[in-house]
Amino acid sequence: MEANSNAPRLAADRMLARLARWLRLCGVDITFDKMLGGAELLHAARHDRRFVLTRDKRLRTAPDALYLTSERVREQLRQVLRHFAIDPQRGAFTRCSRCNSLLREVSRETVREQVPPYVFKSQERFSRCPDCGRIYWRATHPERIKAELSQLNR
Ligand SMILES: [Zn+2]
Repeated sequence: MEANSNAPRLAADRMLARLARWLRLCGVDITFDKMLGGAELLHAARHDRRFVLTRDKRLRTAPDALYLTSERVREQLRQVLRHFAIDPQRGAFTRCSRCNSLLREVSRETVREQVPPYVFKSQERFSRCPDCGRIYWRATHPERIKAELSQLNR
């Protein structure tokens, strides 16, 4: 499975939980720790070679942080995708929105008991998060992403 391999590794500050989930749905590797803020976050991110996304004005001038100008998730997502030239369609369906782990494709038979019958019937391909076990299939979240992204391009 191809994630956004040329995309940067990111770290979201604690005000950006929703943005982090959206970016993961686009395949972006982004950590989120609600305990980390300010200088601590910057320090942890540097240690982990991650670029910081922040709403914290104090980090505005940090060379390895991108200050997000909007409070709205959609605007933030737009700013990040543009800034890093990330193609959200390409990485969609590769990463768990909850854990940031790369999904593994699993055979259809193995998820028979774990997904609703109509999903099992209508879907061919399934992936599982190796950490939380959550199962993903293409129909649900790429549709949602597509709908959201078509809004972004306006
Ligand atoms: Zn997970």
